[in-house]
Amino acid sequence: MAITGGCLCKAVRYSFAAEPAWARTCWCRVCQYQGGGNGTVNAAFPRESLTAQGELSVREMTADSGNTMKRHFCPKCGTPVFVESSGRPTTITVRVGTLDDPSAVKPTSTIWTRAAPTWACFDETLPKVEAQP
Ligand SMILES: [Zn+2]
Ligand SMILES: [Zn+2]
Repeated sequence: MAITGGCLCKAVRYSFAAEPAWARTCWCRVCQYQGGGNGTVNAAFPRESLTAQGELSVREMTADSGNTMKRHFCPKCGTPVFVESSGRPTTITVRVGTLDDPSAVKPTSTIWTRAAPTWACFDETLPKVEAQP
């Protein structure tokens, strides 16, 4: 079954025909800006499984991991939607909060825990990685 989602204002809509390769919570500093204080939850899908409509703005930067990251966001409502990494050219990562059903994908690990604030809450049932796996 396709996994669908989009931005807050509905200008951007997408659908993935495949299941995610992985999903994880990231507490890197960039994700804390994107998540408004929390980490973000991200799911990686095969790039060819993505169909998307609507204009996206792209911001390119170098991540803590050293990879070049392209962050795609809706220019109308500002919602972060996709992330592409030079380290993973065949996958595209989606912010799980933009799924129509965010429960459809569950994170299975937590990464960049060493960058998290002292008050961060981790799911202690999931493996933790201090930095980029
Ligand atoms: Zn939007
Ligand atoms: Zn991150």
